[in-house]
Amino acid sequence: MAGHSHDHDHDHSTLSEMDVRVRALETLLTQKGYIDPAAIDRIIETYETEVGPHNGAKVVAKAWAEPEFKAWLLKDATAAIASLGFTGRQGEHMVAVENTPEQHNMVVCTLCSCYPWTVLGLPPVWYKSAAYRSRAVLEPRKVLGDFGVALPESTRIRVWDSTAEVRYLVLPKRPAGTEHLSQAELASLVSRDAMIGTALV
Ligand code: FE
Repeated sequence: MAGHSHDHDHDHSTLSEMDVRVRALETLLTQKGYIDPAAIDRIIETYETEVGPHNGAKVVAKAWAEPEFKAWLLKDATAAIASLGFTGRQGEHMVAVENTPEQHNMVVCTLCSCYPWTVLGLPPVWYKSAAYRSRAVLEPRKVLGDFGVALPESTRIRVWDSTAEVRYLVLPKRPAGTEHLSQAELASLVSRDAMIGTALV
């Protein structure tokens, strides 16, 4: 992934200025009794373990396997996703966008880091990076190339800019030769990045 090292280049031995500020703030708020570090850990743990891309993968697998669910998902993603029990903060207004041979969809938040937490968990570091946020809009095909995704020139790339109101889930193309797979097996094929649109299944 030439020119795309942000997923790997952070050094755990050094803290960024932002990390230092966050830690200082957390320490201060804890000392003053405004926050309970254990509660914060619990929230983070929830999003790291219980809520995560495996939720979105279940949605995608169900849409692949059940045409009626897929139609519902594309029409009213919030309700269709909620029917699987995936509700909550940062997922109140979901829109699902389907990849087809004609159009590939890719999601960004150019302003900050809005992301569909209920189906994908917490956003990856690169999603929040200034480079991704600006380049995804300016040169999406190049960005996809950095992720190792090469699409035919005939496939249009549509970039969806998330907002505080609307969060997008990409419905990737179902790979050929998967007709015999169960929904659980299908779900295991679906990566987080495929549902952001920076990978294929
Ligand atoms: Fe944002």
